[in-house]
Amino acid sequence: MVTISKKKFKQQFETKMYSLYAQSINEASNEQLLNVLCSVIKDIIAKRWIETKISCQKEVYYFCIEFLMGRQLKSNLLNLDLEKTIREGLKDLGISLDDLIEEEVDPALGNGGLGRLAACFLDSMASLDISGHGYGIRYKYGLFEQKFVNGYQVEVPDNWLTQGNYIWETVRPNKAVVVKFEGDVELIDDNKRLRVVHKNYIPVMAMPYDIPIIGYENDSINTLRLFKSDIVRRDFGPTSSNAKNYSGSYDDALKYKYYAEEISQVLYPNDSNYAGRLLRLKQEYFFVSAGIQDIIRKFKKHKSNILDLPKSVAIHINDTHPTLCIPELMRILLDEEGLSWDEAWDITKNTISYTNHTIMAEAMEKWPAEMMKKLLPRIYMIVEEIDRRYKNYLNEKYSGDINKVNHMSIINCENISMAHLCIMGSHSVNGVANLHTEILKNEVLKDFYDDEPEKFNNKTNGIAHRRWLLSCNPKLADLITELIGSEWKRDTLKLEELEKYKDDIDVLRKLDEIKTDNKKILANHIKEKYDIDINPNSIYDVQIKRLHAYKRQLLNVFHILHLYHELLENPNFDIEPRTFIFGAKAAPGYHLAKSIIKFINSVAYKINNDERVKDKLKVVFVENYSVSLAEIIIPAADVSEQISTTTKEASGTSNMKFMMNGAITIATLDGANVEIHEQVGNENIILFGLSAKQVLDYNKYGGYSALDLYKSNMYIKRVVDDLINGFIPNIEKEGREIYDSLITYNDEYFVLRDMENYIEAQQKINKLYKEKEKWNSISLVNIANSGIFSSDRTISEYAKDIWFKGCEINGEYNKL
Ligand SMILES: *Cc1c(COP(=O)(O)O)cnc(C)c1O
Repeated sequence: MVTISKKKFKQQFETKMYSLYAQSINEASNEQLLNVLCSVIKDIIAKRWIETKISCQKEVYYFCIEFLMGRQLKSNLLNLDLEKTIREGLKDLGISLDDLIEEEVDPALGNGGLGRLAACFLDSMASLDISGHGYGIRYKYGLFEQKFVNGYQVEVPDNWLTQGNYIWETVRPNKAVVVKFEGDVELIDDNKRLRVVHKNYIPVMAMPYDIPIIGYENDSINTLRLFKSDIVRRDFGPTSSNAKNYSGSYDDALKYKYYAEEISQVLYPNDSNYAGRLLRLKQEYFFVSAGIQDIIRKFKKHKSNILDLPKSVAIHINDTHPTLCIPELMRILLDEEGLSWDEAWDITKNTISYTNHTIMAEAMEKWPAEMMKKLLPRIYMIVEEIDRRYKNYLNEKYSGDINKVNHMSIINCENISMAHLCIMGSHSVNGVANLHTEILKNEVLKDFYDDEPEKFNNKTNGIAHRRWLLSCNPKLADLITELIGSEWKRDTLKLEELEKYKDDIDVLRKLDEIKTDNKKILANHIKEKYDIDINPNSIYDVQIKRLHAYKRQLLNVFHILHLYHELLENPNFDIEPRTFIFGAKAAPGYHLAKSIIKFINSVAYKINNDERVKDKLKVVFVENYSVSLAEIIIPAADVSEQISTTTKEASGTSNMKFMMNGAITIATLDGANVEIHEQVGNENIILFGLSAKQVLDYNKYGGYSALDLYKSNMYIKRVVDDLINGFIPNIEKEGREIYDSLITYNDEYFVLRDMENYIEAQQKINKLYKEKEKWNSISLVNIANSGIFSSDRTISEYAKDIWFKGCEINGEYNKL
């Protein structure tokens, strides 16, 4: 492992300060100090990083359109085991490491769960000594910064690269590649060999920016390579005479500059929702083409026979955004390597694997054929040919069943189904939790499953326990180590040994103290930022995730209103003091979601300013939910709200983060909540709501009337009427819109249908909290059984069942 002594570190720090800023340490700003520190750390790891790059293991390339990494300094120091040395070294120089940790930007290059999963996976790949690298986009602007103005969400551009560069990145101009858009494709018969000529295309340069991904106390340093789009300068290599000539006039040159730079300008703010915009398709092809070209270039440098590609390279497509990996790899194998279709197809299928992340219709990517044809003419030709051959196969197999053939085809009604292309163009399709995979196999992708059942498998999501326990909750981590030793840090299943302390009063008291400390830290943060006083002895009841109708923040706020009414009617109403905490961004174009934000903020305002309930109820909606906020909130949570409409949340990962930090989950049996329940049993989780079968049956056969329920249940009616009767001020439009979604449009997400059951479940939470010892014991059981949700477990499964299946490289994968 790389390391450094305190003395040497201090020397290097001072030298670096002079060379970067030509000034002394005591003149430097925190920003400069942070830059110097990162630069020193990069020097420390540089040699090791290069060595990891030339390892001869099978390489895994993980393509994802977003990576939500969070701050890196603390986690890098943790993984390098350098925190102590550097903390003390800095202290000698009069600098506080914690101040510098707080100074770092939190890059918002992802929307939520998907991007965060990709980040956890990178951490686990490096920590498990897998040579696994990420490919993505270096967005100039990440997800918007959220502000509340009069309770409304306002979006501010996320200008995260204020200094022009990101402290952890290294730009590699010598590895830039050109990506071609638009133009005309000609097939020329060249002595019986078809030659493809792409003319008049628009060349865009993909410039790689590499971020080191440091493994946990091992020697692995992998790479996250993010591409920035730029113009191709004239003196830059492959600008051939075929490229569209933009240099004719000044105007053209400006247009070209705009065209190229726009591609990596901004992250689309949609979560679980298909945007369908030309620029998004450009982004998708841009990073895919750059990544695949990069992989082939590297492969050819070390290996000779392209037919061996699947033996040394695994390409993983995270959700459908990188689907074009399939036709892009085909293009290179056909047009540049000169392989036959069948050879190219075999290689492609055997190299690529795919993870499905959703079953919701509105999230399914379907690109208009015309759009792709114009933007990516050669890619479109290949997709058409893949589709033609696939339809032939289907026609033969299901002779005459036109409906089935159309339903399974890739191009249908002038639209290209990216999920279908992924399934038939890869050797593995996985869902992200057991229930989700079962629904894929038996409902949504049933025809594909029946056709190729061996392709389908489940890989329940996980979280990097290093970030989500070791780093964000050091006191809890220390207590665990004190009780069971430190092996759990490498093998989280060892956390089970904690269970023997579930009746140990002394341990439970310590657990309680740690939770209370974390709650005080959060209370201070909230006081500082929002000037709201919250009581650390109240129940912290937390729902933090994207705002989406299916996640049902609405159900949560209806319960809060229910409690409020009960308290107003009966001041002696039996209730433990509770603080409800929300954090959620809504996609800027998602009207209903933004109305729900306004509603929650208005309810919060009313309740927080009502003297009558001030010791019992508080509602805090934190602005700009992000990874660094999650790291403060989750260790302080008592209750984890995982209340999505059953069948809609593919897995969820915040549910796992909360569990690992000892929160008690109130949940529907959706996504990975099912597996959390299996881990802890009925006694240690609070369940409610419709079953998956009930929801699927309602969706198929109907039979639910929200209006009837509203009319017949006075508790439901009371809170729903709050939307439109003026009880909550200043929500005329929003209240009506939400009301209509429930009553006029029959409550698509079964909010009212599950409400009575949810209120009962919440009463169980209330009752349980009064028996604090029992509560703490349940909390401990949750921590003890959370080890299976480490992303190390998930990544080991991907490696064993998908990436390294059937191959043995230096016996390396055997240890997984
Ligand atoms: C974990 C995480 C998510 C995912 O949360 P879910 O509740 O699983 O949807 C989203 N955003 C951030 C910042 C996260 O850390």
